[in-house]
Amino acid sequence: MAVNLIELSPAGLYCPPGRFHIDPWRPVACAVITHAHADHARAGSERYLACDDAAQVLRVRLPGAAIDTLPYGAPMLRDGVRVSLHPAGHVLGAAQVRIEYRGEVWVASGDYKRDADPTCAPFEPLRAHAFVTESTFGLPIFRWRAPAEVVDDIAGWWRANAAAGRTSMLFCYAFGKAQRIAAMLARARALNVGPLAAHGAMSALNDAYRASGVDLPPIVHATALAAADVPRALVLAPPSAAGSPWMRRFGDFASGFASGWMQTRAGRRRRGIERGFALSDHVDWPGLLATIADTGASRVLVTHGESSAVVRWLREHGHDAAALATEFAAEGEPEAMPTAGAA
Ligand SMILES: [Zn+2]
Ligand SMILES: [Zn+2]
Repeated sequence: MAVNLIELSPAGLYCPPGRFHIDPWRPVACAVITHAHADHARAGSERYLACDDAAQVLRVRLPGAAIDTLPYGAPMLRDGVRVSLHPAGHVLGAAQVRIEYRGEVWVASGDYKRDADPTCAPFEPLRAHAFVTESTFGLPIFRWRAPAEVVDDIAGWWRANAAAGRTSMLFCYAFGKAQRIAAMLARARALNVGPLAAHGAMSALNDAYRASGVDLPPIVHATALAAADVPRALVLAPPSAAGSPWMRRFGDFASGFASGWMQTRAGRRRRGIERGFALSDHVDWPGLLATIADTGASRVLVTHGESSAVVRWLREHGHDAAALATEFAAEGEPEAMPTAGAA
């Protein structure tokens, strides 16, 4: 019988023959990290292994940690197990973990998307006997529009707000989404409306992106905006800033939220945000099923959020599928959204 190359342990996903964990939620000896989002890259482990594109951001997130890095695609041998990291297209440095042992190949996706993103390497389809996939948006209602169209909507909203003399306050995840939006607005030539600004919590991450070679447009520290520029500015802010005293300086601002959760009416209405922009760094339902098919995997293990719908669909279509009870969170989920008191 074939060995399990990935299984659930109390500390997280574990590779028994290679003796390492993947994105563990408890401190371990060797943690392979798919990406630097807080629920995947937790502090306290002895050593970390990540893709070299992730190094700068990971050092912001895990100061002082012992981090080894590998280029995408370069294999590392560990106890006869061949481990390599491959682009997941999710955020800067995000990797799928490919594990090969005695002719058997397993791939753990981490978080991933198939849509183009100017701030990270594109998703690389891999073949595997078993595929451990995320399922943050694993319901048929989630189908993304082309990201460039959504960014055009953001640009149009910004233009209308500026014409009305209102700051555009765009809430978004501080790592990944903020930099993607900034880069896409620049590519859409939408930066002539006014200054692009960001909350201070994003500065270190923006710097880490630039240090990693990602081309970001100039982004002003929001508190350094000249008074005359405030009504024309688009300010990128983390959801945690909503309702904080920091917001007062922007007066009667227009509020928007950029997240895959904005696809649903419940998501948009939940917290009194004026405009929702459904822009996600995860695969949608068709992308999820297409990716599983691309792997050729007969066995599929499902992590994150909506695993039951995905597992049911896969079983109905002849896969050996099961949910894994991981402790990964759904990023930017409604619970993390700004509250109505913010605006
Ligand atoms: Zn993530
Ligand atoms: Zn995740």
